[in-house]
Formats: sequence, structure tokens, C-alpha cells
Amino acid sequence: MSFSSSAASPSTSGITILALAAPSIGLLFAAVFAGIGSHWRNLRYFFGLSAAFFSFSIGAFLQILRLPQGGLNSIVTTVFYAAAASMLISACTMRMRLRLSGLLTVAVPLLMIFGVIYFFYVHQSLEARIYIVNFGTGIMLVATGVRLKRVAGKRIDHILGWVFLLFGLQHFPRTILSMGRTNSPGAVATMTESPFWVWLNFSFLFFVVLVGVSLVAAAASDIIEEFRHSSITDPLTGLLNRRGFENFARSQLALPNRRPISLILCDIDHFKSINDSYGHASGDIVLTEIAVLLRKDIREMDAAGRLGGEEFALLMTNLGRAEAHSVSERLRQEIERAQFENGLLERHHVTASFGVVEHARGEGLESLIQRADAMLYAAKRGGRNRSLADTGNEQSEASNSASHLAF
Ligand code: GH3
Ligand code: MG
Ligand code: MG
Repeated sequence: MSFSSSAASPSTSGITILALAAPSIGLLFAAVFAGIGSHWRNLRYFFGLSAAFFSFSIGAFLQILRLPQGGLNSIVTTVFYAAAASMLISACTMRMRLRLSGLLTVAVPLLMIFGVIYFFYVHQSLEARIYIVNFGTGIMLVATGVRLKRVAGKRIDHILGWVFLLFGLQHFPRTILSMGRTNSPGAVATMTESPFWVWLNFSFLFFVVLVGVSLVAAAASDIIEEFRHSSITDPLTGLLNRRGFENFARSQLALPNRRPISLILCDIDHFKSINDSYGHASGDIVLTEIAVLLRKDIREMDAAGRLGGEEFALLMTNLGRAEAHSVSERLRQEIERAQFENGLLERHHVTASFGVVEHARGEGLESLIQRADAMLYAAKRGGRNRSLADTGNEQSEASNSASHLAF
């Protein structure tokens, strides 16, 4: 993030304007990111990005305006730059749901700050300070770029990884270029009027804009993803909603040369009385806990959805009627045994009924659901707390009392 730990005194107004452009644009991005973070609940990490850009901008302004004067300036600006780099990589790591690295976000920034203090108060060396700040920041950014690229899924994640890598890598040649300009007396003044300084400020401006625009694009991509996700997800249970479930089922049924597919419908028994006896909130907890049981019992390639109210559906790919019936029976028993709401509903036995069907070649989803619904209805009529599979002509039933069936 930091270009050097020296105090800047550009001699021409052109260079000053160029130098001021980066932190000004940085402040603009800080405001935009704060807006994104406060508007979208799932994009809270944008507050971290806002703080990072703010911290960078303050550091750059202080450096350009030489506030405070003298050597203290390099220490103060290093604190702002190190904090900015740390917050930037923390927020991007959080966005990708990766574990924060204490080494990169705390240890390296602290080493940078202590290093600059040492090479100012104990052993005066501008060159050492420049190396510490630039190499420290470069290492933080490159390591984060490598981490982001390794787990990147979407195109924007790859782009962000590359931006971090490029941003980080250019700290190294830039620093080496500054060598030889820092040993003579008045090195600071010489450097701030050199082509190196101009190039430095151009790169600064370029990367502030590049990182900022990439992050705005990442936010846009996350927001679109969020809309897409919420349009197919049931907010209470986190399972697919009816639309998401039907989309998935249709895509599976349309696959050519596929293995058997079965549908399991599940409806909680006398759910209304749970609501009436314990309240709607307890009813919601039962729904959520049953959703957890359903999700736990299916494989990656299957799908669980809440079709509405207290009715759930499971699409079991690569599974025939008999095996799907076994799954539904296992679920029925798990629900019967489950301790809902930490035993609060202990005296109220929560049970569910199931209808199971296997998809017939050429059959539409509506017909498949209708047949499963008929099985479910028959299970309810048959006394509830049972699972009933459609075998074409006969029906196969399993319930807590039907012990002759092997499950
Ligand atoms: P059956 O055994 O025949 O299925 O009886 P039931 O009481 O489960 O079925 P019914 O369809 O009569 O009642 C379903 C109830 O589910 C009525 C409705 O208030 C409740 N319900 C629907 N959606 C929700 C929800 O999101 N949360 C809660 N707590 N209750 C809901
Ligand atoms: Mg019910
Ligand atoms: Mg119902």
C-alpha cells in the first residue's frame, strides 16, 4: 500500500495534484463501500473495506501534506498504511469465508510499524524504512492474492486474486528502483522530485482505482448471487423453496441416460396442534429442526426443499423406489425419536407421514408430485406416522407398527 516511508515534497503542482488524486479517490471508494455495507446485510465486510480505503487515504494525505513534520511522519503514515493493508486483506478473506491469518493481518503490520520506529529512533536509515514498509505490504498482498486465487470460484474472485498479486508484486521492483537515491544527504527531497516519484504516484493512482473498481464489481456479483440464492431458498429452513426444488427436479428429470430418480414427500402430522399448543415460534423451531434432519440424511447429489407450510420434499437421484422408501422410513423414525426444542415439546410427539414414488420414463414433474401426494394422503388416512411407497399396482407401507418390512 505504501510507496515509501519518506515525507513527500513534490516541487511541481502537477505532481501534487497527481499525488492527491489517489487518496481523494480512496475517500470516494470508502464512502461507496460504507454505503454498500450498510445497505446489504450480507455484505457487512464492506465496512472493513471502507475503513481500509479511509485509513489509506488519511495516511497518503498526511504523507503528501507532511503532517506531522519530520521523521514522525514516516511512523504515523506507516501506521495508517499497515492498518489499511491489514483491513483490506481481512475483509477480502472474510468475503471468501477463509480463516483470517494472524501472521498476515497482525504480525506483519506490527513488524512493519516497529521496524520503522527502530530505523528512525535507534538506527537512522531511510532505505531500511522504505524496504520494511514496501516489502511488508507486498508480502501481505501477494500472500493474500495466492490464497484468494486458490479458492476462487467465480470469475470476479479470480480477477480479485490477480489484482492482489499484481498490486503486491509491484511493491518489490518499485522499492529496488528507489535504491541509490536514499543514501545521500537530502535523499528525501531528491527522490520526491524524481521520475521515480512520478511513476510511484501513477502506480498508486492506478492500483487505488483498480482495487476499488474490482471490489465494486465483486459487490455487484455478490448482490446478484444473493438475489439468485434468495429467490430459490426458503428463509426459515435454508432448504430450497418450491421454485428452487422444482427447478432442480426438472433439470434432473431432463438428463438423458440417467439412473432412477425418486421423490419423497413429507408432511408433519397434526402440525396445527403444535402451533396451537406451543405457539407459532415453537412450530418454526420444529420446522427448522426437521429441515436439519432431512438435509443430514441426503447425499450431495440429492435435494431437499420446503414446498410450503409443513410440507417437505426430497429428490433422490440415482435411487430406486425401494431404497428411497428405506430413506423415508429412516427419516420417519428419526423425527419420531427427535427431541425438539431441547425437550420442550417432550410431551408432544412430533411425527410425520411420507409418500414415496419413483419417476417413470417420460413422466412430467407435476404428475410425479401428484402421485407422491396421493401416497402421502393415503399414509395420513392410514393413521399418520408412516411412509407409503407407490409400487404401481400395489402399495408398500412401512410404519412403526409394520415391523414385517426390513429397514
Ligand atoms: P395433518 O396431520 O393432516 O397434516 O394436519 P396438520 O395440522 O399438520 O395440517 P394442516 O394443513 O391442517 O395445518 C398445517 C399448519 O401449518 C397450519 C399452519 O398454521 C401451519 N403453518 C404453515 N406454515 C407455517 C410456518 O411457517 N410456521 C409455523 N409455525 N406454522 C406454519
Ligand atoms: Mg401436516
Ligand atoms: Mg400440510
